[in-house]
Formats: sequence, structure tokens, C-alpha cells
Amino acid sequence: MEKLRPIKGTQSLYGEAADRFAHVVATFEEVRRLYGFARVEVPMFEQTGVFARTMGETSDVVSKEMWSFESRSEGSVTLRPEFTAGIARAYLSEGWKQYAPMKVATHGAAFRYERPQKGRYRQFHQLDAEVLGSADPMADVELLCFGAQLLDELGIEGVRLKLNTLGDAQSRDRWRAALIEHFAAHHDELSEDSQARLEKNPLRILDSKDPRDRPFADSAPKMVLSAEAEDFFGQVKAGLDAAGVAYELDPHLVRGLDYYRHTAFEFVTDQLGAQGTVLAGGRYDGLIEQLGGPPTPAVGWAAGIERLAMLVDDEVRAGIEAAVLPMGEEARPHAIRAAQLLRGAGIATEIFWSGKMAKRMSRADAAGAGAALIIGEEEIAAGTVQYKDLKTGEQRQLTVEETVEPITDIAAEAMLAEWSQEEQA
Ligand code: ATP
Ligand code: MG
Repeated sequence: MEKLRPIKGTQSLYGEAADRFAHVVATFEEVRRLYGFARVEVPMFEQTGVFARTMGETSDVVSKEMWSFESRSEGSVTLRPEFTAGIARAYLSEGWKQYAPMKVATHGAAFRYERPQKGRYRQFHQLDAEVLGSADPMADVELLCFGAQLLDELGIEGVRLKLNTLGDAQSRDRWRAALIEHFAAHHDELSEDSQARLEKNPLRILDSKDPRDRPFADSAPKMVLSAEAEDFFGQVKAGLDAAGVAYELDPHLVRGLDYYRHTAFEFVTDQLGAQGTVLAGGRYDGLIEQLGGPPTPAVGWAAGIERLAMLVDDEVRAGIEAAVLPMGEEARPHAIRAAQLLRGAGIATEIFWSGKMAKRMSRADAAGAGAALIIGEEEIAAGTVQYKDLKTGEQRQLTVEETVEPITDIAAEAMLAEWSQEEQA
């Protein structure tokens, strides 16, 4: 029989890699709560138009990275390459406008047909945060603070926030025309890719990595901001200063998608080579209109979970707190009963079913247990367990109920020790 293989560019995770992935998601959920962002869920696939209309036909995603297929009753559908367009679609079709301004966040799988490499997959996962229905620059600031705190809580070092403004529609259109004029004068010296996008998406040439494009990208005219756009950007910068979030201005920062206006940003690290962008976004005031909705200001960001997971500490797994060791066949149901009681009391418990006593003890120790409950013939007869503090070695005969308190104390102590260690680091 032909051996089945995974789809190219997908990943299956276990152990440390899966723990780091889960740690990123759990930290995101915690920070989301701190910033008052509500959870949303949107479908994994949409009508192709949802993405094609909003992301722009010349964007990399729409022009070559979409996973689209014909469905029997829905015409062309596409697996989501990102969250923003689907959330904007739901904002319109679910009548979420009544909740505006709406602070929402979600996470899950996204799909892009790209050449797989380190940090670049065909199914990857994103964290996503959006504020819909707010034209206030403080929405941009709050989102940036959310992103910065997330990266901070994850302990990711060496991250820089690059910030730019793409102006309002008017200043952006004027800049676009100036860029076309500038690049057209050097048409034949540009890379083939840039020649192709010159007319439709000249902004993209600015962040081209092709060395043939760099000199012309570097000498390209800068955007001239309208007074209004200047004021908006000024408020964003002042807000970040007030919040103590550091940033670098980068006039060449453009986002790959057409729908961005005003604020554009990327948190980048030099630790992942070419795949250095870990969290990116900006304001997309024109997007909901492109879906046929009313003018709706909005701003958001997305972060790749895999890229963040590569940067977090590898010791994120929370160990167990108690180990139960049944001695002999008869003790097995007693072990189950004891473990259930401890777990019901909020104690992470593992039963070590078989093997030599010493071996089981060392496995319990390696799993992080602070205490062990040994159950043999004598204990069964007495209705107790042999309780052992694995740090001091102290042993006592206790009922299972009586072990809850000392185990909880040991776990709390271990947690405090870990915190103070982190504080010092
Ligand atoms: P890049 O320039 O690396 O292709 P992008 O501009 O296409 O990134 P966005 O559309 O802004 O990326 O997506 C937000 C984040 O999602 C990225 O910063 C990255 O962390 C992650 N990401 C995007 N594409 C992939 C992928 N194919 N595999 C893994 N993570 C990805
Ligand atoms: Mg990309």
C-alpha cells in the first residue's frame, strides 16, 4: 500500500514543540483579557471574493498564495489566508456594527500556498486582534501596547517595533502616483517582479528584497502627509510615548495588502533570518467599504504563532504536582480514586502504574511532582496512603483527603520560587 504522508508545508507537533505552541496561545488569551478584547470566532473558509476583494489582486496572497477550490453549491471558496477579511465580512453580515467600537481577538489556522521553509508553512497559525468602528488613534495605540505586552510576557528579546504611516486615502494616492513616476523612469533596471507590480502596486517595490530594486527603492520619494494624516500620526506617536512603548520610524515600511491606511507597523526580530516579522498590522479604514459596507474605520494586527513559538523559552511545560504509586493489582482502583480526588481539588496528578519503585519515583520526580502517594496492602487495609514529601523525604500515613493541604502548599511554594527566580533573571 502506498505510504500516506503529510501535506507539504503542514506540521504535527508533540512534546516540547506543542507545549511552546500552547504557551503562546495561553499567553495571548491572558493578555487579551487584560486589554478587554472580546473573543470572536469566524469560519475557516469563505467565498473567495471576501479575500480577493479586500486584500487586493496584486498582493502576494491573492495573486499566488490562496488555497481556493470550487464547491458544489458555493462557487469558488478559499481557506482563510488571514483573519481580518473574514472578521470584516462577519461585522457586516452578522450586524456587529451595533457593537462598534468593537475590540475583538481570535486565533487559529490560516492557509497560504507558499514555498515551505523554516518559519513559513502552508498551514500556519495566527493570533489576531482588531478594533472595528473606531477612527481614534488611541485604538492604534492600545493595539500596539497589546502587541508589545504580549511579546514581553512571552519573554521574547531583541524585538523592535517599526512604525510608519501610509497617510489617508488622498496622501496615499498622491504618493502612489509619484512612486509610479519615479520607478517608471528606471523600469528596465528593476527586477521582473517589480516591473510587473509597478503600475498596480508600486508601494510594494519599496520593501523589495531584490538587490536590483534596492537603490531605486531607497531613493524613492517620501510620502507628503496631509495635515490631517500628520496629526493622526502625531497622536499615535504621543500615545506610544505615554505608554512607554519604544518604536523606530521606518518610512519604507509598507504592508503587503492594499487595504492599509495611516498607521502601519511590524514587530521584527533579527533572530529568525528572513522570516523576522513576528507581529504586524495597521489601520485599514477602506476595507469594509470594499466589501460593500459603510465607511468603517478599523485597525488590527496578526502574529504568526509558529514564529513566536520558535522564540520562546523551551521550559514552558507545567509539570505535575502529585504522583500516585499503586503497589500491586489490588491497589489499582484505590490509585484511581486517590488521583480523582486530588485532581478534583485542583492538583495536577499522574499515576505511575508499573515498574520498580525506585524507577517510578525517579519518573515522578522528573515529571515535577512535589509529593507522592504510595498505596500498598497495608494502606488499603487502613484506608490511608503513604504520603511522601519528595523534597524533604518526610513520610506520613494520611488519608487521601489529608494530603490535599500539604501538596497544595508544596505547589504554591514551588510557584513562588519560580517567580522570584524569574524576577532575578
Ligand atoms: P511575510 O513577509 O513573512 O511573508 P506577511 O506580510 O505575508 O509576512 P502577514 O500577512 O502580515 O504576513 O501575516 C502576519 C504574520 O503571520 C506574519 O508576521 C508571520 O508571523 C505570520 N505568517 C505569515 N505567513 C506565514 C507562513 N506562511 N507561515 C508561518 N507564518 C506566517
Ligand atoms: Mg507573505
